[in-house]
Parts: sequence; C-alpha cells; structure tokens
Amino acid sequence: MGLIKPIAKGKTDIGQVRSVNQDLLLINHKQKIYIVADGMGGHAGGEIASQICVNAINDYLVEHLSDIAVDSDNIADIQSTLKIISDSINHASSKIYEHALQNPTLKGMGTTATVLKIINNRAFCGHVGDSRLYLLRNAFLYQITYDHSLVSEQVRAGLLTEEEAEHHHLKNVITRSVGYQLEEEVDTTHLMLEPNDLLLLCSDGLHGKVPDTEISKITNHSRLDAVNILVNLANERGGEDNITVLIIDNPDVSS
Ligand code: CA
Repeated sequence: MGLIKPIAKGKTDIGQVRSVNQDLLLINHKQKIYIVADGMGGHAGGEIASQICVNAINDYLVEHLSDIAVDSDNIADIQSTLKIISDSINHASSKIYEHALQNPTLKGMGTTATVLKIINNRAFCGHVGDSRLYLLRNAFLYQITYDHSLVSEQVRAGLLTEEEAEHHHLKNVITRSVGYQLEEEVDTTHLMLEPNDLLLLCSDGLHGKVPDTEISKITNHSRLDAVNILVNLANERGGEDNITVLIIDNPDVSS
C-alpha cells in the first residue's frame, strides 16, 4: 500500500486560426490543484482574464485549503470544502472585474473556470462556463460538469436536439463567466475516487472538435499521452479555437 502520487499532464495550444491563446491551464502538483480557464474579451482582455483567474484561484485555495483534512464521511467537511472552491472562483471574479474597472479597454472581459482539487481520495470541482471536467472510469467516459452555454441549456430544456446544438450559430455564447460581473453562480460537485480513475479538463476548443466517444477511446488507450493526441486531433480538424487539455491519471492516492 504505497502512496501513488497523482500524475498530471496538460497542454494548451493556440490552434490554427487565432493570433493569441486566451486559454490557460494550471497544474499545482504539490497542492493537487488543477485549473482550465478559457478567456474572452478584446484588447488582450481574454489573456488577462484567464491569467488573473488561475492565479487568484490557486492562491486562494493554497491559503484556505492547504492544511485541511477532509473526513470523507463528514458532510460538513465536504460542504465547507466546496464552499471554499466556490469562493475561490468568486475571488477571481472580483479581481478580474475590478481590473477591468481600472482599465476601461478591458471592460467586459471574462473567462470560464473549471477547477479541481484532490484531497485524499476525493475530487472537488468548481465550475463556471463551457470548459469541461470528464471522468474516465472502467472504460466509460462521464461528463461531470454542465456547460453554461445558451445552446446546451436549450438542449437540457428540450428546446434543441443535440444535433441542432452541434452546428448552432450561437454555440459559443456562454451564460455564465468569471469576471464579467463581481460575482457569479458557481456549480460545485465532488467525487469519491477509485483506483485507475482518470480525470480530464478541457476547453471547448477540444470538446467542440472531438466528440465524447473519441475522447473516451483515446484516453482509455493512451492515458496521459492522450493530451498530445487530442490537441493534435483538434488541430487537424481545423483548430479554429484555442485548445486546452489537462489529464490527471489515477488521482486516488489512497490505493
Ligand atoms: Ca474557447
């Protein structure tokens, strides 16, 4: 029963069309914090928003969660941890918002944020926007987060089919973002990890180009090496958007 350290690998790529990469990822190996942010906004706003976002969230979590001991059976521990994750995203939101107030050319900038923190054998997730967290378990791929996008909310409400959503002209419109306003509603969730689980975070530059069935097949086969394969595949299919993939292989440290 040795401790297995989480093994994480990530890549962010500008794609084939854009002149800047507004995506950003963060891997904090020591604290087991993993973040994907997909920034938006002109005049460098997108890059600045995602940069402020990942730094602010990481700093907040290191400060507030570094010594926490979460008892897996204690609901209060779990709830307070999820609250800190949610607060970290709103801490980032207020920082981005205030930065834009002082720099009017950056007005309206924002970013998605999908945040993962591993504590013992539990994964805690906070999420805003249309980046995604997936879990690969026993060869099945599960999408853990819901997209906060106009199109996917209409799919969930039964107003659009998956097929209509796929090619919808408003596909890129998100309904929640970090930094567009002082605070945002954050989705939080947690998972009990099992041996050989694989977690994957990505921006829409991946999931807009590579369907879940292929993400599943490639991660099953290649595990961490899927990072490069998936980025290359999105590029081969046009790479119209920035592409970010972050994989954590076997994060269950208790096994
Ligand atoms: Ca994007």
